Amino acid sequence: MAEEMNNTQAPAPAAENTAAAAPRAERPARGFMGKKRFEGRRKVCKLCAEKMDSIDYKNFQFVKSFTMESGKILSRRITGTCAKHQRQITKAIKRDRNLAILPYSLPKK
Ligand SMILES: [Zn+2]
Repeated sequence: MAEEMNNTQAPAPAAENTAAAAPRAERPARGFMGKKRFEGRRKVCKLCAEKMDSIDYKNFQFVKSFTMESGKILSRRITGTCAKHQRQITKAIKRDRNLAILPYSLPKK
């Protein structure tokens, strides 16, 4: 029993390893279009830089700068805001939308 188990198990992983390794080596690397990960300087949170503790929804021109032309909220990845401030921005944007200061959406042209 023990010998049979060993015999059947031992060659199987070896075969899998070679089978898996061969196509992986042939496969071209995907997802890396270039080596550039950081273009220019690193993004810094605008609000942290100006030491703003809270965001005023009435300052709609500032709040608007965190939305796309279509009215979508820009992601943290694009604007570089920190998590704390992004939460405040989304709140302010949603508040402004409800007050009809900012649009929910605009037609795409
Ligand atoms: Zn911040």
